[in-house]
Amino acid sequence: MRATYAKIHLNNFRSNLNVIRSKINKESKFCVAVKADAYGHGALECSKVAEECGVDFLAVACADEGIQLREGGIKLPILVLSLVCPEEMELLIEHRLTPLVFDEEYISCLAAKCRKMNVRDFPVHLAVDTGMGRIGCRAEDAGTVAKFIEKTGVLFFEGMCTHFSVADSLKKEDEEYTQRQFENFNAAVAAVKNAGVNPGIRHAANSALTLSDSGTHLDMCRCGIIAYGYYPGDFTKEYFEKKGSPVELKPVMEMVSKVAAIREFDKDRCVSYGNLWKTAEKTRIAVVPAGYADGILRNFNRDGKGLYVSIGGKPYPVRGRICMDQMMVEIGSDESVKRWDDVVIFGPEESGAFFSAQEIADMTGTISYEITCGVSKSRVPKVFFDE
Ligand SMILES: *Cc1c(COP(=O)(O)O)cnc(C)c1O
Repeated sequence: MRATYAKIHLNNFRSNLNVIRSKINKESKFCVAVKADAYGHGALECSKVAEECGVDFLAVACADEGIQLREGGIKLPILVLSLVCPEEMELLIEHRLTPLVFDEEYISCLAAKCRKMNVRDFPVHLAVDTGMGRIGCRAEDAGTVAKFIEKTGVLFFEGMCTHFSVADSLKKEDEEYTQRQFENFNAAVAAVKNAGVNPGIRHAANSALTLSDSGTHLDMCRCGIIAYGYYPGDFTKEYFEKKGSPVELKPVMEMVSKVAAIREFDKDRCVSYGNLWKTAEKTRIAVVPAGYADGILRNFNRDGKGLYVSIGGKPYPVRGRICMDQMMVEIGSDESVKRWDDVVIFGPEESGAFFSAQEIADMTGTISYEITCGVSKSRVPKVFFDE
């Protein structure tokens, strides 16, 4: 196998699922978002663990992701959170994937496919746009759309949902916005009931609200990032401790590579593209075969305040620009570092890493989601650990 791989700590994933389950209201279901290959962690393996742990629903982004899970033997209901095009609808129906719907043209198209395939009672969930500005009908139209779904005669109104845009913010105006979105959703639920349709499974809470506001759990919580071990947005481990409801999440992904060569350089030798870094004295450089095409992005190492990797539990700085396929790490005169030693780039604390995906995200102005999703699926093999 290649020197560079992602170690997936499934035991940490399981531990996170159990922690989250303990935070969700007893009567509410638990949906885990395994879209984008489980945020880069391996959708099928994570889904199998989720199934074992008694999760109620999974969520993916597109039909292909759902089909891969069905082909891998996953039996749980699977929500498809984005819209699929008409050509994918038959596959969606055939694999019992549950779409979000919200407008009459799309609903008619889906119903026609069901009729063609002789499928009855095909479950759908109504998406309501309460302020995210993405998919969903307006709350005031929810009753009409619900009736339209029932009138198709082949679709079953199984549930309804909305999605929050600033639920992970602690700013007062954002908290108020979230509150208004929630009220708006409740109005949509009332409109559906008034139209004589059972609203079924009502779900709204994402990771942030699952941990921070049990009043929004309704009939199901949809969690992604916390299952992979990162706190959402403004929320931190310390925040929950202070509030008296501690949450112990463990990062699931560890990025590992190896020392592929050790080079000796005299003073004033340039390292990597752009000649941005020069040796200040005679030193030694370890060459590590991992780069931005693997997901170790160039901006992980920006002029001096960049990444430290862990070799044998000790920190060593990345020097110069990260290349497409390789990066250079200064080990100096440290004789303890040997060729083919493991290099931990990021990961949970127990891996010896000095950065988690969260800390790299904070350092580079993005979110942990983008760091783990950015690990190349085609080039970085995943190795699953479950001790
Ligand atoms: C991705 C997604 C989620 C999960 O979001 P997290 O912040 O990772 O918990 C929930 N609902 C919808 C509609 C999503 O697209």
